[in-house]
Amino acid sequence: MVDILDAPGLAPKYDKRLAIIVPYRDRAEHLGKFIPHMISYFERDKLDRNIAYSIHFVEQMGDEKFNRGKLLNSGFEIAKDDADYFCFHDVDYLPVWADYSYCDRPTHIIWHGLLPRYQYPGFIGGVVLFNKQDFVKVNGFSNDYWGWGEEDEELRERCFLVGLSVDRRDGTFTRLDHENAGFKPDGSRPAEGDTNKKKRLERAKRLGELYMQDGLNTLEYRLSDASKVSIGAQELDNVFYNKVEI
Ligand code: UDP
Ligand code: MN
Repeated sequence: MVDILDAPGLAPKYDKRLAIIVPYRDRAEHLGKFIPHMISYFERDKLDRNIAYSIHFVEQMGDEKFNRGKLLNSGFEIAKDDADYFCFHDVDYLPVWADYSYCDRPTHIIWHGLLPRYQYPGFIGGVVLFNKQDFVKVNGFSNDYWGWGEEDEELRERCFLVGLSVDRRDGTFTRLDHENAGFKPDGSRPAEGDTNKKKRLERAKRLGELYMQDGLNTLEYRLSDASKVSIGAQELDNVFYNKVEI
C-alpha cells in the first residue's frame, strides 16, 4: 500500500488544527449555504478531509459601519488557543477544488471564482490562510477601517513590511452573488471605498511605526454571546457563532 500522506513533507500539512474565521452581518441566505457546503467539502475532499477544522462566525452587533478587519482580529482572539493556523474566509465563497492545508507563510487560496477585478497578484481578500506566528508577527489587521475596503490591502503591506512574502494556491470557488458595496454598477467606487483608500495610502507612508500601534495588540471587543450552530436537531460540535461588540 502506498499512502499519499507519506509523501515527503505532506503529513505535517495535515496534522495541524485549522480555525476558519468568517466575518458576518445580515447575510442569512449566504450563511444557510455556507455551513452545509463547508461540512460537505471537508467530509469529501480527499486531502482536506484529514484536517481538524473548526468554523467561527463573528457577527458584528450594532449599527456601526461594518469593520471586517476588526471582526477577523476578534475571531482570531476567540479561536487562537485551539488552533495552529487560520483561514480568514468571506461567507460568499464556497470551495470546489481548494487546498486548506497548513501554510508556512501567508497564502491566498482562491483564484478561480473571483471577479476579474480581484485577479491581480497580491490580492489577499476573500479567502486567505495565516499560521498563528505570522498573524501575530504582522499584528493582525488594522482595527481602523470602517466600511468597505482596504483592510486586506493593508494586511498585505504589513506582510511585506515584516519580510513575509505571500503565496498563492489557485483554488476554485463558487461565488454567491450580493449587492456590492465596493463598486457601483458602472464599476466606479463609491465615496466609502475612496475614503478608506486615501486612509491606507496615507498610513502606508509610516506603516513601519503604525502597524504596532493598531492591530491585535490594541484590539478591544466584547463577546456578548457564543453558541454552537445546529442544522435541525443536529448540533455541530465544530461550528461556533459569536456575537461581538467592537
Ligand atoms: N460581510 C457581511 N455583511 C456585510 C458586509 C460584509 O457579512 O454587511 C462579510 C461577508 O463575510 C462578506 C465579507 O464580509 O463576504 C466581505 O464583504 P463583501 O462581500 O461586501 O465584499 P466584496 O464582495 O465587495 O469583496
Ligand atoms: Mn463579497
